Amino acid sequence: MITEEPNIDVGILQERRHIEGELSGEFYIAGETPLTGGFTAKAAKGGIFLYDASGHLILKKASIKMKPSGEAFFTLYDVAVGIDFHWERSEKLTFRGDLTLSLDKNGLMTAINTIALEDYLSCVISSEMSAEAPSEFLKAHAIMSRSWLMSTLERRGDIDGKRAKDKNSIQSENEIVRWYDREDHTAFDVCADDHCQRYQGIKPLSGFTREACEETRGLFLVYDNGICDARYHKCCGGLTDLFENAWENQAVPYLTSVSDSLLNHQTIFNERDAQNWILSSPEAYCNTRDEAIINRILPGFDRETMDFFRWRVHYERDELENILWKKLGFDFGRIQNIIPLERGPSGRIVRLKIEGTKKAMVIGKELEIRRCLSPSHLYSSCFIVITKRDLLEKPISFTIHGAGWGHGVGLCQIGAAVMAERGFKAEEILWHYFRGAQLKRLY
Ligand SMILES: [Zn+2]
Ligand SMILES: [Zn+2]
Repeated sequence: MITEEPNIDVGILQERRHIEGELSGEFYIAGETPLTGGFTAKAAKGGIFLYDASGHLILKKASIKMKPSGEAFFTLYDVAVGIDFHWERSEKLTFRGDLTLSLDKNGLMTAINTIALEDYLSCVISSEMSAEAPSEFLKAHAIMSRSWLMSTLERRGDIDGKRAKDKNSIQSENEIVRWYDREDHTAFDVCADDHCQRYQGIKPLSGFTREACEETRGLFLVYDNGICDARYHKCCGGLTDLFENAWENQAVPYLTSVSDSLLNHQTIFNERDAQNWILSSPEAYCNTRDEAIINRILPGFDRETMDFFRWRVHYERDELENILWKKLGFDFGRIQNIIPLERGPSGRIVRLKIEGTKKAMVIGKELEIRRCLSPSHLYSSCFIVITKRDLLEKPISFTIHGAGWGHGVGLCQIGAAVMAERGFKAEEILWHYFRGAQLKRLY
């Protein structure tokens, strides 16, 4: 395990021909006079051409590293935020730390920000969380995000890989079981977008989130002498699920199924359990309709997304056939049955069979199921399907009744925030979701 605070390389811009920005304060470039003010970089044959604000060529190199002096910081224009999501837009963002511009294999530029892990973390927490969230929740989140990040970086360095990275699917003619993990970046550790963790630089930093990071500085969740791969999701639906039901077939001892309640809810074993569970509204930390709490944890969500503990989606038969055609590229013919073959303890479906008049197919795991049964994504794979049939037993429509939001593994964000609101401490929240894990200060 690490013994001092590491630096991390964050990819801010990728595949750019042209990068524009501004240096506030002096930045040192090896062998050059310090640079300040506006700059433009262009990728061209043979390297990166760096120009100052008045358009004078300063230097030409394959890689340009700029180091800030004192409190200097830099701003990059035209940074894409929310890539591939409906909120995608371009912003001007400001960062502390080093800025490196380098060429990728296609001759395009990458802008990388090298920053101390704790500084990065406080930016990430304040990009993802509202500063008004309960402070014990913010502290728990800081410890968890720090642990997840470090364990991801450590695993990447491990060439033999405790978990094989390339084996992320099992496919045959009639079965697609795949899972999605953070793709490895090669030129840097993490990207700045939701793909890894949203990092929007220093602008949104607020006092509270900074405090949560400072108070927990160097604290990690550990298990058996290793930093925990601390996963989290928005709402478990009352029970959390196992690591291997969302990703590789490998048990992770601290990512087990927990009842997200003071009551000990029984895990789901069969279809009858699933039906009773999903169609009821059990007592759970994340079973809250308190808009004030939800808005404080998930800022910016609209009211339509309030129903995530229990939710419902309805499709006419042809509508669902069209979605499956678009998402999977198969013509199932007339959809006959949708049959869960395997569920995890939270009720999330791990393998689902879709039977049509022309084709039958098994799909998994949870994210693939969510992706295939919705124009965007279903909230979770914890659902039952109620099929309406005509007098000849032919399906007319399908109603999906579901529970929870996200993969359900590790910490439930809504549940954790409600726990904090009810007076639980950060460590109690973490021990509730990550059973058997301990806290350890590593620097
Ligand atoms: Zn990424
Ligand atoms: Zn929950």
